[in-house]
Amino acid sequence: MRGNDFAFRKKKRDVIRIEGLEVFAHHGVFPEETKLGQRFFVNVVLYTDTREAGKKDDMALSTDYGRVCMEIHAFLTSHTYKLLEGAAEYLAEHLLCRFPFIEELELEIRKPSAPVPLPFASVSVTVTRGWKRAVIACGSNMGDKENYIREASRKIEEDEKCRLISSSDLIVAKPYGGVEQDDFINGAFLIETLYEPEELLAFLNRLEAEAGRERIIHWGPRTLDLDIIFYEDDVIRTDKLTVPHADMHNRSFVLLPLVQIAPQWVHPVYRKTAAELLGMLQEP
Ligand code: ADP
Ligand code: MG
Repeated sequence: MRGNDFAFRKKKRDVIRIEGLEVFAHHGVFPEETKLGQRFFVNVVLYTDTREAGKKDDMALSTDYGRVCMEIHAFLTSHTYKLLEGAAEYLAEHLLCRFPFIEELELEIRKPSAPVPLPFASVSVTVTRGWKRAVIACGSNMGDKENYIREASRKIEEDEKCRLISSSDLIVAKPYGGVEQDDFINGAFLIETLYEPEELLAFLNRLEAEAGRERIIHWGPRTLDLDIIFYEDDVIRTDKLTVPHADMHNRSFVLLPLVQIAPQWVHPVYRKTAAELLGMLQEP
């Protein structure tokens, strides 16, 4: 796992660019397209940090564009998508999972022989995808509490769309919300993820369900609770999701672990760092 400063490292905007990679493949809505195939052209811009690799002049510290080209070719020739959108979406995800130094990419797939009965140069779809930083709070107050949390962290680490950057220590906390119940164990994870916020919530809900969580009483006992505290600088208010977490600034059992893994993370609504929010909570 990487160190604490990781969350505050500015994203790097060095670029490796691949242009006009030609691939003969079988994507399209029409049966002729999937049967006969046609030419596709791929442009990709990889956002990364080339400084170390450049200074040391060492390939092992950078992304091998030759391998990226081979991977694009292999992916597009071994899958069939109806839409350019589908090909672009899954190829982008594949490249981000396969090449760890790529933080973000712009991927364009161009189709010059698309079935359009008019004079026409080409059609293309461009997507921008990348790793997003988030903080997850975890809690348990039933059964083997530490094991539920350890399992959650293992499953986050194993998911190919998540990278666990760091974990806080676990703390013991009194229950919150006035329901008579056992003490909690709480902690927090700093992660990078390819999931959008709603997808991340669905993934965390799945881990809760796998831990046998039942939602019976609000704020009642639970084997595993996983909440999204921060997701980049996003401010989200939908029926299912409030990010930053609506009550985080009032909860020392969220702020104490948070301050261990991301003390400088600025709350995008209150404009205070995690450390400042904790300081305000502890003032008389
Ligand atoms: P709590 O975590 O407040 O004790 P639950 O875990 O039972 O309660 O969550 C209730 C609902 O809160 C979930 O179904 C989810 O849709 C919603 N929710 C809203 N914002 C968030 C968030 N940031 N992280 C996790 N769940 C959230
Ligand atoms: Mg919850």
